[in-house]
Amino acid sequence: MITFYPGPSKVYPEVSQYLQEAFESGVISANHRSTAFMEMLEATISNLKLKLEIPADYEVYFVSSATECWEIIAQSLISVPSVHIYNGAFGEKWMEYTQKLTSGASSFYFDHNALPELPFASKLSGSELICLTHNETSNGTALPASFMGSLRSESDNLIAVDATSSMAGVELPWKAADIWYASVQKCFGLPAGMGILVVSPRAVERAIEIGERKHYNSLLFIRDNFLKNQTPYTPNILGIYLLNSVMKQVKPINELAKQTALRSREWYRFLTKNSYQLLVTNEAARSETVIAVANKKEKITQIKEAAKKAGITLGNGYGSQKDTSFRIANFPAISDQEISILQNFLVSAAVK
Ligand SMILES: *Cc1c(COP(=O)(O)O)cnc(C)c1O
Repeated sequence: MITFYPGPSKVYPEVSQYLQEAFESGVISANHRSTAFMEMLEATISNLKLKLEIPADYEVYFVSSATECWEIIAQSLISVPSVHIYNGAFGEKWMEYTQKLTSGASSFYFDHNALPELPFASKLSGSELICLTHNETSNGTALPASFMGSLRSESDNLIAVDATSSMAGVELPWKAADIWYASVQKCFGLPAGMGILVVSPRAVERAIEIGERKHYNSLLFIRDNFLKNQTPYTPNILGIYLLNSVMKQVKPINELAKQTALRSREWYRFLTKNSYQLLVTNEAARSETVIAVANKKEKITQIKEAAKKAGITLGNGYGSQKDTSFRIANFPAISDQEISILQNFLVSAAVK
């Protein structure tokens, strides 16, 4: 079975060997306050920052999921209502989680075939946190770097970005935002069970100003621990080991991103040529890492079932597009050969 599910997704084949190495190294039986663990944590963060080109003055913490990041941000970085600019199910969920904890989150919804309009964003007052979904996994859209850059230059607000299905697959304009997060089961090509939170010096300052320390996962408490190469609770040691191994293995993000861009152009060209209908018709709004194909419910069910019989798992539609679309992950761990297999299948299943 080969999988194009956009999370959990295909893990790098080398993970099999890393699992064995992790076992043999003894680190997964070691105490998380031991020197061996602390050195591994430090090396992992340093390899991650190197390969993903994260600015030196941004800090990296490991948590348990992207969902946990929604709560950490709501608890520790929001003092006046946040504004959530989104076009799909994940952006909406983030707003709802924040609403529950802060009771003030407001939303600005835009169409999945449009980009959010800047005049609205620049009207926000100085102290609000702007929340964006860099890559909306549910509908296959993404925010271009040009949008992120313009928003940054037009507003003084702290900006938080959900990059769960784009981090480690495309280049991120790190300096255009203050808080970035992802989980490892998408572009990182790793088994699920860990989240990665990246924060700018300004975000740290804001957390200190707010001073929230009520939770086991309060940002300042997490930070105190990470500054000593420790974690607030017993972490996913195996997950950290695997992340370090994969970060040592992968090419620098600028090279990896070229492959992602090339493959996505090829995917969109291929689908159009073979009369598949794309969910996102506006090219400027399309994601490079998650490609969504739309059709009538019966046709989608039929294609997914035929794919399953051919040994291929396609991603189900998500949220409001659940039954009327399928999704194809374009994550780095997927091989050219697997892409050819899926394309051959799609040629034969083509909907005219
Ligand atoms: C997958 C996903 C999440 C949720 O990730 P978890 O690891 O399950 O918490 C959040 N946001 C986006 C955009 C996602 O793709």
